[in-house]
Amino acid sequence: MTTMLDTTTAELDATVAGPVLEPGDPGYAEEVASFSLTFTAAPAVVVGATSAGDVAAAVRYAARTGRRVAVQSTGHGLQSDLAGTVLVSTHRMDRVAVDPDSATARVQAGARWRQVIDAAAPYGLAPLNGSSSQVGVVGYTVGGGLGPMARRYGFAADHVRRFTLVTADGEIRDVTPESDPDLFWAVRGGKSTFGIVTDLEFALMPVARFYGGCIFFPGEATAAVLHAWREWAPTLSDDTTTSVAMLRLPPDPSLPEPLRGRFVTSLRFVHLGSASDGAAVLAPMRAVATPLMDLVDEMPYVAVDAVSMDPTTPMPVRERGVTVDALPAAAVDALLAVAGPDVPAPLALVEVRLLGGAIARRPVVPNAVAGRDAAFSVFTVGAPFGPPVEATTAAMAAVIDAVRPWTYGALLNFVGTATAEQVGRLWNPADRARLLQIRDRVDPTGLFATNIHIG
Ligand SMILES: Cc1cc2nc3c(=O)[nH]c(=O)nc-3n(C[C@H](O)[C@H](O)[C@H](O)COP(=O)(O)OP(=O)(O)OC[C@H]3O[C@@H](n4cnc5c(N)ncnc54)[C@H](O)[C@@H]3O)c2cc1C
Repeated sequence: MTTMLDTTTAELDATVAGPVLEPGDPGYAEEVASFSLTFTAAPAVVVGATSAGDVAAAVRYAARTGRRVAVQSTGHGLQSDLAGTVLVSTHRMDRVAVDPDSATARVQAGARWRQVIDAAAPYGLAPLNGSSSQVGVVGYTVGGGLGPMARRYGFAADHVRRFTLVTADGEIRDVTPESDPDLFWAVRGGKSTFGIVTDLEFALMPVARFYGGCIFFPGEATAAVLHAWREWAPTLSDDTTTSVAMLRLPPDPSLPEPLRGRFVTSLRFVHLGSASDGAAVLAPMRAVATPLMDLVDEMPYVAVDAVSMDPTTPMPVRERGVTVDALPAAAVDALLAVAGPDVPAPLALVEVRLLGGAIARRPVVPNAVAGRDAAFSVFTVGAPFGPPVEATTAAMAAVIDAVRPWTYGALLNFVGTATAEQVGRLWNPADRARLLQIRDRVDPTGLFATNIHIG
């Protein structure tokens, strides 16, 4: 590290209220820790921001010293080692305020969905969180955000009202559809390409309960369940959001005995109508095979994590995902051939989510969310419970290749370790040109390090 950098780091330390840490400093490893244990973040400097002012100071410091800027809240989306960057760590900025009169929530950059779910529930309101309430609100939302009520209400990004953004010039900007229509469009779907969101306001939905949860079927029933699901799912109304997942569960003693160490297929189901209507909708899938566990029931919205039962502790995972425009029998057979119960693949999960409904409808104020027109999302998580990363990477690639004949694009939050070029191609040429034009206006030197190559 040069003397100049040391000096300017000291200046930064004096400017920001939160910690400024370099490799080797006490607290550095904890500050850069993430959910994915297959990457170790190694930024040149990490700034533990406590306010928009701290974020702006970190951005100005990075510009001055020729470093790129990355941002991390929970670490659920870490897809590289962030080497040489200035990492802005936002987890200290975790204020959440719910306004029941306007049915909106306003959160800081470090808030997690669990906080919003709990704050909104007393008013009979719910946010458009994803499958895990431990994921960060802002990172999820600027990537689109597809959750258990998506077919009824669309992407989380579709319901953003305003946000505060620190841009590459170190300015703190309040962005609304009126103040800067281009930035308002681009950030909602373009993730951290345009700056760091420090504060986000979005609508809450009038949802207090649902009929749903998951059904675990034994591995032997996988082909029957997947084929039945691909025919049943497209017949559903927008009140139902569903996915089906092949899971290789670890021999973890905290898992229920029927699931421990087994290959199982999980049907995930959320129905926003009455319990009796939901049970009627689900009946054909319940009849496909005898489940190991049927955990679908009437639930308060705060229990929404029960739908996917995502892991809550950091894991050695890698991810890939695409969308497809159809899921014919041949596509299911192709997935079974590379990831079914008879294949010893180092994959923790292969999940197919039904899209359509409100997901496919353009929001009132358009945004840059890519992939909304696809029919299904196919997502895989490789978890080398022993095998090397290369074997996991190859197994994930086999899943992506299996559905290539039907591949349409991808959802930004699920692209995982796709290359920046592949991610950049998610947008159609017109949207891509607009993103590039906006990026050139607000970040002409490419200060923000992202996994998106738009040009
Ligand atoms: C267990 C699990 C379940 C998931 N379920 C879903 C799901 O159901 N639906 C879905 O859509 N996605 C889902 N995801 C993907 C998740 O939404 C993305 O990985 C998201 O980026 C995570 O945001 P984070 O802040 O928690 O993670 P972080 O790793 O802290 O951030 C990830 C990225 O988000 C962006 N970002 C974070 N903070 C800011 C900010 N303040 N300003 C601008 N950009 C920012 C940056 O690009 C950053 O690199 C899931 C991920 C995991 C690990």
